[in-house]
Amino acid sequence: MTTDTRLIVCPHCGAINRVQTGREAEATCGKCRDKVFENHPLELVGATFDRHIAKSQVPTLVDFYSPTCGPCLMMGPQFADAAKTLFPQVRLAKIDTSAEQTIAARFGIQAVPTLILFKNGQEIARQPGAMNARDIAAWAKQHL
Ligand code: ZN
Repeated sequence: MTTDTRLIVCPHCGAINRVQTGREAEATCGKCRDKVFENHPLELVGATFDRHIAKSQVPTLVDFYSPTCGPCLMMGPQFADAAKTLFPQVRLAKIDTSAEQTIAARFGIQAVPTLILFKNGQEIARQPGAMNARDIAAWAKQHL
């Protein structure tokens, strides 16, 4: 019998954990013993962003937002809801473009919010504009 595993970056300490498919909800980090994968969006900054995108084998959907943008604030709870729907197929994360301007520039973010779906370190889809939870989840699944 073969067991599928995926590498998942711990959101708490950054350690890379090998996790059996189907055991994501209960998996704990080998280093810090905290949960490896939770069903809510992860706030990323420069260093953690690169590590999660490059090292995690879970597709990662990133909300590039700004705390001063009305549509971004409206989408926040919808994005959090979508994280529950997409768990554990997709990890959801957020980048505050006003604080992380280098990353925003690297990906040519013109407007917020913009969603970018990453898989195996590569951008595979992007969608500018606010969406509700159902549309976010459907859009992400369509590109997996
Ligand atoms: Zn950890």
